[in-house]
Amino acid sequence: MNIQTSETSVVIIGAGMAGLSAAEHLTQNGITSMVVLEAANRYGGRIHTVYFGGQKSLVELGANWIHGGSLGNPVFNLAVQHGLLSGDIKYTEEHNGHFVTSFGSMVEKEMSKKMHGIFQDLEKEMTCLEKYPSDTSIQEFISQREESIVQTINSDERPLVHSMFSYFKNYIEFYEGDSLERISLRNVRDYKVFPGRNVKLPLGYISLLDVIVNSLPEGVLKLNHEVSRINWTGPKCKVSCLNGKVFEADHVILTVPLGVLKKKCTSMFNPSLPRQNLEAIERTGFGRVGKIFLEFERPFWKVGDLKYLHLAWDKAEWEKMKIDPNQWIASVSGFEEVLNNPKVLLGWIAGPHSEYVEKVSDEEIIETCTTCLRRFLNDPSIPRPVRILRSKWCSDPLFGGSYSFLTPNNLPGDIDILATPLPSVTNLRLLFAGEATHPSYFSTTHGARLSGQREASRLVSNA
Ligand SMILES: Cc1cc2nc3c(=O)[nH]c(=O)nc-3n(C[C@H](O)[C@H](O)[C@H](O)COP(=O)(O)OP(=O)(O)OC[C@H]3O[C@@H](n4cnc5c(N)ncnc54)[C@H](O)[C@@H]3O)c2cc1C
Repeated sequence: MNIQTSETSVVIIGAGMAGLSAAEHLTQNGITSMVVLEAANRYGGRIHTVYFGGQKSLVELGANWIHGGSLGNPVFNLAVQHGLLSGDIKYTEEHNGHFVTSFGSMVEKEMSKKMHGIFQDLEKEMTCLEKYPSDTSIQEFISQREESIVQTINSDERPLVHSMFSYFKNYIEFYEGDSLERISLRNVRDYKVFPGRNVKLPLGYISLLDVIVNSLPEGVLKLNHEVSRINWTGPKCKVSCLNGKVFEADHVILTVPLGVLKKKCTSMFNPSLPRQNLEAIERTGFGRVGKIFLEFERPFWKVGDLKYLHLAWDKAEWEKMKIDPNQWIASVSGFEEVLNNPKVLLGWIAGPHSEYVEKVSDEEIIETCTTCLRRFLNDPSIPRPVRILRSKWCSDPLFGGSYSFLTPNNLPGDIDILATPLPSVTNLRLLFAGEATHPSYFSTTHGARLSGQREASRLVSNA
């Protein structure tokens, strides 16, 4: 055992946006006796930019957009401060793509526009639904509204509208994070947004974290340090790593994903976490969202025109496929172009199929996606992708999923419990940050950043 008894007063666990923002805030306020322990051999966590699709072409395996491109958003603000948007801000419109059906037809512009409008209205409606009980799932809400909306449409167009709803439901699944029956309407109501549209970082999301890491004192960040045990009694907290190193500190800020806490909350802590924490961890959802990138020899579409291809499935076929694990393609909402990456299409997938597809071979993915594109675009000459890359957030033990959400079982104070230091707010030993601990910006990079700054501020005020 190698005990590090340096002057370390804070151990931060996890070098994602939350942990690194906490370290940055402590540094800016004169607290430099700290270490950031990261299990992986890279920093960033669910921010993971990699090269794919050609020389210097980037893709994001995790976080994609800055949600809410305005200066009040601390992540957008950081990007602006450091010139990372390079004066050429790339905004994304969610509902601007083309609908194609499983019968191989393109939906007419007029109809697409009308349905995009309806979907936008439904999303707005979900944010102000005081009349629904708090345990209503998004599934219940959308199914009810789908039926009533379809009744207002000419009977010959109803099958098409139902099929367009299959895209919308898949889209909401990836946006909210999991199967719609697992997510509470409260998830949409409690989630607050910064004004402004979604923004992409041309140099990759990781460019933001590079800036933070470069501002930290040398030697603070320790990669390949997976924490196995946290002892938070005694005069000092003791943090043990799988590599045999042990760090002692006055305070610990824990930022591991909720997916990790779900698996390890009963084995990681000594003394164990209070019962109310264990119950809040169990009640809060941790989602399943994945990405599949397809690289083609050359684009078979007109670059810039395809934008986002929305897959509209025949209702009966889709409903059968959604409950068959092998039919994971039914949960791919569509394929979209990737910024500055003209040979690559991105397929989003969520829910149980997202977990399942992590286990299937690259060959099966190539085959299934090619068949799907040929069928929906009614074009047997569409080439096979030459390479694919996909995320594996669910099966990665350092994450156990994608991002948090509120389930119908969540109780109103659950997120506050997840964010409250132990043993108490006046005796700060074990502090909690990470996107899942933010009551209104959960599931986002800005929520993660604010949560890290929040816990660091507690320590600064306490110093
Ligand atoms: C597919 C996908 C798409 C997304 N899209 C967006 C988006 O467009 N916009 C947006 O704002 N957000 C998005 N998000 C969410 C966003 O990425 C996260 O909310 C945010 O990055 C979380 O930061 P964090 O610091 O809380 O956690 P993480 O980034 O997960 O950091 C936690 C760190 O803890 C480490 N760790 C785990 N266990 C241990 C251990 N035992 N010891 C030491 N270290 C450990 C992990 O390796 C990780 O580096 C997306 C996420 C996914 C998965």
